[in-house]
Amino acid sequence: MISVIIPCYNEEEVLPFFYKEICGVAKKMNKLDFEFIFVNDGSKDKTLELLKELSSNDKRVKYISFSRNFGKEAAMLAGLEYSKGDYVALMDADLQDPPKKLEDMYKIIKSEDYDCVGLRRVSREGEPKLRSFFARNYYKIINKISKVNIVDGARDFRLMTRQMVDSILLLKENNRYSKGLFSWVGYNTKWLEYENVERVAGNTKWSFSKLFIYSLESIISFSNAPLMISIVLSILFMVVSLVMFLILLIQLIKGAFISYILLLCALILFVSSIQLFATGILGIYLAKVHLETKNRPIYLVKESNINKR
Ligand code: UDP
Ligand code: MG
Repeated sequence: MISVIIPCYNEEEVLPFFYKEICGVAKKMNKLDFEFIFVNDGSKDKTLELLKELSSNDKRVKYISFSRNFGKEAAMLAGLEYSKGDYVALMDADLQDPPKKLEDMYKIIKSEDYDCVGLRRVSREGEPKLRSFFARNYYKIINKISKVNIVDGARDFRLMTRQMVDSILLLKENNRYSKGLFSWVGYNTKWLEYENVERVAGNTKWSFSKLFIYSLESIISFSNAPLMISIVLSILFMVVSLVMFLILLIQLIKGAFISYILLLCALILFVSSIQLFATGILGIYLAKVHLETKNRPIYLVKESNINKR
């Protein structure tokens, strides 16, 4: 069985299109059972009514409705937790993740040794220029400062094995950033490339500022680099102040006039470098605590020939 999880937030306009499309896909893959798990993320329009109607006519349609808008991450998590399939797919309701691709993805995951097949868009056509610019640089930065690899243009659209889903569900952290979590759990992922498609109806739920905050959160979740900023600055300040002291010392030895302003600056820099360093140390300890409180498992086993206990 394949579980298809669809987070929906005010999607009344696209849901009928989506449902038609996914039914077509399920029909083509007729050897398999399907369940469509729609997660209504606190929609303010008729999304829930629509879902109820669909589910009364089609028993493959399941819905989970949130008490309010918790965000797409929460919706995806709920879907994963409720899914029962041997394979689980995540896709958007707006047909930007072409459901047609599911068949290819399934073929790959079934015949080749992959645990996950994801979709990666190679073009960002139809997206505002500024947004593309920030997105590109965001991927560059996060891949540099974080240990997990986040593929540029990767969408949340993917098909995963039950094993990988169960691993993801072991990660209980509250601030979820799925792209990071999918990468963190490891396993083999194959990326299929495709051209960006625009949503068929309705509007995007992600404003620029929402995306920007999301990207900052992901950096904080998956990298300790920001905490190192104060250590780096403190070292810089220390070096500059030492150079200043050296200049003063030379002046003193030469018996020349000592610049008191330079002395003052050197002292200020010196003291603040020590303070920054202390803050940095605190930051490192905080990072450890931060990671500990996430309770991520220490390792995940993919295969083994012995059972635990
Ligand atoms: N979504 C959600 N909760 C939110 C925002 C979005 O469940 O708070 C869903 C939305 O219904 C859609 C998917 O996440 O199925 C992607 O959203 P959208 O198409 O607005 O994002 P974009 O494709 O513009 O990045
Ligand atoms: Mg979209």
